[in-house]
Amino acid sequence: MADLVIPKTVVDDIIAHAKELTPHECCGLLAGTNGVVSHLYRIKNIVAMEGAQNLSSFDAAKVAHLERLSPAERAEIAFVMDMQDFSTAKKDMRNKGLDLQVVYHSHPHDPARPSVTDIKIASDYEEIWPKINLPIPAYLLISLMTSTPDVRCYWIKSGQVSPAHFAIQ
Ligand SMILES: [Zn+2]
Repeated sequence: MADLVIPKTVVDDIIAHAKELTPHECCGLLAGTNGVVSHLYRIKNIVAMEGAQNLSSFDAAKVAHLERLSPAERAEIAFVMDMQDFSTAKKDMRNKGLDLQVVYHSHPHDPARPSVTDIKIASDYEEIWPKINLPIPAYLLISLMTSTPDVRCYWIKSGQVSPAHFAIQ
């Protein structure tokens, strides 16, 4: 039994997005109803726009969760969702009666599994989702390491990573 059904067209969109942004990571949201994804929202990756070396100069309000990371963890961050894009997507989901289901991002040079920093950020976000009235999403990772992009999905809860079962249709 799949936790999520993701249309092939949406997976193709994610792959296209990942390829466009490589060597930077892409990120975005998937939303739908009853476990079936119907919408993809590309979210600007602030790191890809401004360069990871500028991360320390980011507007604190934009990236509040970064304050809780050590400098070493910050240095590893490859994507930070643009809050403006995020709010726009959230509003559109509400208007259309969709649930947030997935946060996706790409790993241009690494396997499709969450990095230590990905897990740390997801764990921090676990407290944030309910406060902004959103369910805890699954995390989809796409790796461009191999000629065929590898797509995998995970739940990250209480620092534990487990596979999220998904079907591509
Ligand atoms: Zn990652």
